[in-house]
Amino acid sequence: MEAALRIAQAGFHAVLVEKEPELGGTLRDLHSSFPRWENPRELIDHRVGLLTKSRRVTIRTQTAVTSSARQKKGFRVSLKSLRNENEDELDVDAVVLTTGFELMDVSVYGEYGYGIYPGVMTSLEFEGQLKKWAQSTREIAADAPRGVALIQCVGSRDRSKGNPYCSKICCMYTAKQAGLVKDLFPDTRVYVFYMDYRASGKEYEEFVRQVIEEKHVRYIRGRPAKVLPEDGRLLVRAEDTLMGIPVEVAVDMVILASAIVPRPGTRLLAGMFGARTDEYGFIESELHEPVRSADRVFFAGGCGFAIETTGALNQGASAAAGVIALFNEDR
Ligand SMILES: Cc1cc2nc3c(=O)[nH]c(=O)nc-3n(C[C@H](O)[C@H](O)[C@H](O)COP(=O)(O)OP(=O)(O)OC[C@H]3O[C@@H](n4cnc5c(N)ncnc54)[C@H](O)[C@@H]3O)c2cc1C
Ligand code: SF4
Repeated sequence: MEAALRIAQAGFHAVLVEKEPELGGTLRDLHSSFPRWENPRELIDHRVGLLTKSRRVTIRTQTAVTSSARQKKGFRVSLKSLRNENEDELDVDAVVLTTGFELMDVSVYGEYGYGIYPGVMTSLEFEGQLKKWAQSTREIAADAPRGVALIQCVGSRDRSKGNPYCSKICCMYTAKQAGLVKDLFPDTRVYVFYMDYRASGKEYEEFVRQVIEEKHVRYIRGRPAKVLPEDGRLLVRAEDTLMGIPVEVAVDMVILASAIVPRPGTRLLAGMFGARTDEYGFIESELHEPVRSADRVFFAGGCGFAIETTGALNQGASAAAGVIALFNEDR
């Protein structure tokens, strides 16, 4: 969205292809965003408003790219409507890939009971729950959880069952989610299990400190070994590695900060345009070209790696700058 908008603002035509019925991506599912407790809906509405008004942007929702052929300058792209199967072709001078990321399937961590115990959910599912609660606080106050445990690094930094990399954004969104529970239900006990927390961004450290010190979320250093059902609740068993003692907490919900992984379709789409992907399927950049992956092929956001919203916006603007520079050279 950001790249399309900037390209249009520079006087060129952009076609925005989205497979879903609505624009906005993962932000549509988020309840509030770090580091400023902002409502992501406002950002989406602002950008969608500008894109819809622009005469130079064509929005194609429920549309997929099915193939592409390289031409002298650019590509001939085949598009298919996911509504009525209609197909058409489009000649474009450059491409920006922005397919985002998804969460790893954490059911491989049988010890946490995802898919088995109803109170265990992923961080993205929990955003939906937070939204629901926030919209109807009064009615659901009686159902407030007495305890919530959030487990970081599930599927990240784990060479045996997950991915070796750090997913970069989950320390921050976990702090946000823990803080939001305390805002909604001040009497709920909220625990964050972490290996170490990474808060390297503007206002990030202050954000996490606020959650710990002002909202009274308890951070326990240690990776839980098991989640067990007990008396209708969930028992989280871990070792507090700072204190060197075993810990057990009884909660009603367990939230797994699942690893960020590329969408399976990204590798396929990248291949259509000659863009490279890494061993996991994230789009790889060319040397010294942070948002370019091949000749006339740029990328931005989560399809390159885990990234927070501001970073995705910045990359969208950078990719647009690359496209605009190229078009000016073509003239
Ligand atoms: C649980 C959770 C909480 C988060 N909280 C925060 C927060 O508080 N603050 C913050 O800054 N960031 C947060 N983030 C990160 C934020 O979601 C991302 O920074 C942002 O979504 C990245 O945007 P994107 O456009 O790159 O990808 P996405 O939002 O994933 O959008 C990609 C879009 O591409 C579309 N698409 C995918 N493949 C295709 C295809 N083949 N053809 C057509 N369309 C396609 C998708 O439908 C989607 O609309 C959070 C992420 C998670 C998982
Ligand atoms: S960002 Fe934090 S929670 Fe996510 S993988 Fe890295 S250290 Fe773990």
